Amino acid sequence: MMSQTHVLLSAAAFTKPGAPVRNSAAILGAIMPDASIYVMLTILRLQGVEQRRIWDEIYWQEPWQFFSAVSNSFPLFLSIALIGLVMQRFAKTPMMVFVSVFLAGLGLSALLHLAFDFPVHADDAHRHFWPVTDWRFFSPLSYWDSRYFGDYVSLFEGLIGITASIILLRRFKLVWVRIAVGIALASYLLVPAFFIWSLSTG
Ligand SMILES: [Zn+2]
Repeated sequence: MMSQTHVLLSAAAFTKPGAPVRNSAAILGAIMPDASIYVMLTILRLQGVEQRRIWDEIYWQEPWQFFSAVSNSFPLFLSIALIGLVMQRFAKTPMMVFVSVFLAGLGLSALLHLAFDFPVHADDAHRHFWPVTDWRFFSPLSYWDSRYFGDYVSLFEGLIGITASIILLRRFKLVWVRIAVGIALASYLLVPAFFIWSLSTG
């Protein structure tokens, strides 16, 4: 799914008022699996590589396939979450509490991201179980590709985003949270528009 849906979903699932460490870990964990894509896009676009070539060719080559496997790994984020949760039981110093809450929040939030990506990646399926196996689940559904019901999945994704936004707006009365949720909702229109524009301009 799109990054903003993952952020809204993780925020709705894991944040609570007055828990800044837990909340920032949840947001970071929601973005982590997509981070390798943003790094790749930034580096290659700065080098002047065409957008179409990035998606058709370079994304499928190393080192990007490796980074994509790492950032989408269930075993990796499950380990991080478990370390955090076990540490939380034994944490005595404020530093240990901080680290354990952060690791648990980050790991659980990233796992939620992967769980929602798993059923909606068709021929762009990730190696979700790296380093255990290179197996990929090629879903009959895609979150973007209309050859795999992408139009319907997008509508469903939009509904998830709106539901999560309503939960967040009811949970937090802070002005900046309202602005952030507003930006996330606006990005459902702005991100596709930007992609179409940048593909048409090369
Ligand atoms: Zn993803």
